Order: sequence, then structure tokens, then C-alpha cells
Amino acid sequence: MAGDHNEEFDLRQSIVDACREMTALGINQGTSGNISVRFGEGMLVTPSGVPYDRMTPEDIVFMDWTGAWKAVGDNVPSSEWRFHLDILKAKPEVGAVVHAHPIYCTIIAIMNMKIPAIHYMIAAAGGNDIPCAPYAQYGTAALSEAAVAALQDRRACLLAHHGLIATGPHLAKALWLAVEVEVLAKQYHGCLQLGTPPLLSDEEIDSLLKRWGQYGLRDKKNVAAA
Ligand code: 13P
Ligand code: ZN
Repeated sequence: MAGDHNEEFDLRQSIVDACREMTALGINQGTSGNISVRFGEGMLVTPSGVPYDRMTPEDIVFMDWTGAWKAVGDNVPSSEWRFHLDILKAKPEVGAVVHAHPIYCTIIAIMNMKIPAIHYMIAAAGGNDIPCAPYAQYGTAALSEAAVAALQDRRACLLAHHGLIATGPHLAKALWLAVEVEVLAKQYHGCLQLGTPPLLSDEEIDSLLKRWGQYGLRDKKNVAAA
């Protein structure tokens, strides 16, 4: 498909760009993390274990809703394809899923803690906390089930002893949320050095959520993933 500048190619390119941006932003490293974008009757998802600096649009794998997939060469879909597919199936408003192992999110997740309402930006994830899904081994149906449950009323969650999942209507917004949650995790980690942080009340979060609308990174119209 080289040189084929259609919607699918642009989406594949945007996934590769977002992977490299995760590394540049310091929220991921090596071959950890993965990204999916809703496409046609399924999703485009990063291949497993391909370093982001070597990844090309052709390397991105298409997987349909049944889990059947097509890839070039010896590429296989991300080991986390189950939670990507299950989240996209369970949440029709989600267009993209970003998974990473950002340092501060992962520290909080190792402690099996959630991020509470320390800052008003917690509302970006849709509620008064960023929950932590219980531990299950990477790539398993059990991890997918735990992630889908934690994301039921949220746009992001931590994964115990593992990392972060952030979702969005399109890829730019999911990546933006991943960065915001890592900032919240860093703030929470800092607060914990000083004591027990005071929290915003549930009433305050409800009031923020009523005002929220498009607050934060603006959704672009007619741009699937950019
Ligand atoms: P993949 O390279 O298979 O996507 O795995 C990375 C990862 O973060 C697993 O949780
Ligand atoms: Zn992972």
C-alpha cells in the first residue's frame, strides 16, 4: 500500500506518529505500549514488539470484530489486541485506545492505588477518580475484562503492576488524555510525599462534569485521527 494516500493509509501513518510521540513525550519506552484506532468493521492496531522508530504504516495490523487479522510479513497484532478490541466494542463513543507504561501512572498502579480527585483535571477522564483495574497477566482475556470494567464510566484507567489505558473519540484526544493522566499521577505522587492530599468533593466533580463539554484538547471535525 506504499504511496496509497487514502484514509486507511493516513490512519496507519497517524498511529505510527502517535507511537513515536509517546516516546518523545516520555510516556513510553522501547516496545512497550500499543495503540488502536476504530476502522471499518474492526480496528487498526500496532504490531507486537516492533520498535516505534522502525515501525511503518504497512506494519499496522487490521483486525475485524471477530478477532481475524491481516498483517504483512511476520508481524502479529499487539499482544494486547483483546482489550483494544473489547474496549472499542463496549464503548461506541471511543475511536482510539492508547496503552502505555508511563512512570508515575505505573508507580501508582504498582501500589494498586487509584488517582483520586486531587486536581480538577481528573474530570477529563469522566469522573472523580482514575480507577486501577486489578492485576491480570498481559494479553489475557482476564486483563481485558478487568480493563473494560474499570473503564465502564471512565475514559482512562490504570492497570495494576502494568500501566495506563486512555481512550478518546480520536487518536489525538486519547494521546492528550494519556499525557494528562500521567501529569495527575505525578502530582499525586508528589502530594503523597508531603502527606495525605485534600480532595475535591463529589459535588464539585459533578459540577465540573456538567460544564466540561469539549474542555481540553478540542475535537477536530472530519479528522479521524489527526
Ligand atoms: P506489544 O508489543 O505486544 O503491543 O506489547 C506491549 C505491551 O505494553 C504489553 O502490555
Ligand atoms: Zn503494557
